[in-house]
Amino acid sequence: MPVLTPVSLDDAVRLLDAHPGALVLAGGTDLMVEINEGHRPIGSGGDPTVVVAVDRIAELRTWTVDRGADTVTIGAGVTYRELLDEPLASLLPALAEASRTVGSPQIRNAGTLGGNLGTCSPAGDGLPVLSALDAVVHLVSAAGRRDVDVHDLMVGVKRTSLAPGELIESITVPLLDGWQGYSKVGVRNAMVIATASACLVTDRSSRTVRIALGSVAPTVVRCPDAEAFAAGVVDHDARTVPDDAVARFGELVAATSRPIDDHRSTAAYRRHAVEVMARRLLRRAFPGRPA
Ligand SMILES: Cc1cc2nc3c(=O)[nH]c(=O)nc-3n(C[C@H](O)[C@H](O)[C@H](O)COP(=O)(O)OP(=O)(O)OC[C@H]3O[C@@H](n4cnc5c(N)ncnc54)[C@H](O)[C@@H]3O)c2cc1C
Repeated sequence: MPVLTPVSLDDAVRLLDAHPGALVLAGGTDLMVEINEGHRPIGSGGDPTVVVAVDRIAELRTWTVDRGADTVTIGAGVTYRELLDEPLASLLPALAEASRTVGSPQIRNAGTLGGNLGTCSPAGDGLPVLSALDAVVHLVSAAGRRDVDVHDLMVGVKRTSLAPGELIESITVPLLDGWQGYSKVGVRNAMVIATASACLVTDRSSRTVRIALGSVAPTVVRCPDAEAFAAGVVDHDARTVPDDAVARFGELVAATSRPIDDHRSTAAYRRHAVEVMARRLLRRAFPGRPA
């Protein structure tokens, strides 16, 4: 099984073009598990037989802030551990909070945000944050570059709209003016895949509240009814919201979820969990009650 190790993005794109169907390997924390468990054909007689490892490509491992546009662009190869470093953690606190919940220190050292998107599990901890922030994903292939809304990249359970030979280069998210946080429920406190998760972000300048849910539908979902309701009841300047509005917000969020019963949980528990998480996140964002 040849493992090709390009050190530039151009070389990686060229290799993927020359080897249609080659597997892209970043931190390997998802891919190696899938290969070891036989879910991905590889090796003697397998197809694809070529792996393109992208972890040595410096362009994928950097991040930049654009103060004019008020955005941060994160290379696909940035790891969870790096997302926890300052100043990135303070710029994108919900992403840092989500990163802190991923696996163990070993997984956070190797696992990347691009790999989370590439796997596209509805339980991926980075994905509700990227959804709530309305991230734009930058893709590159021999055919050129294109940008996609993160919601258009996630098309199903572990299914993306990536074309063959296409690489995730980076992800751009806005710097918002407001509170943001991430919440996750699992069977224990560490080394756990989310039974249900939620990310809530607020933005004073656009007067918006946005919430995205993980593990309660085939892909991460936003909650438009709850978001519209919240916009009408919160006070962004005083950071207040009435108690009855918090309760209603939770109900509207739960109504958007489409959970299933599986080995990790029942649908009923997941629906209950997102309702509780939504209420708590809204209260953390707006701790005060109107006078
Ligand atoms: C013990 C353990 C615990 C874990 N805990 C969590 C957890 O708590 N939360 C969580 O969300 N995940 C968890 N994971 C899953 C995994 O760590 C994450 O999904 C991680 O983000 C995957 O990144 P990676 O760099 O390792 O990707 P890889 O495994 O290298 O790749 C994953 C997929 O993405 C594709 N890919 C990678 N980079 C690119 C790119 N630049 N362009 C296009 N495609 C690309 C690959 O081809 C592959 O299909 C865990 C895994 C393990 C083994």
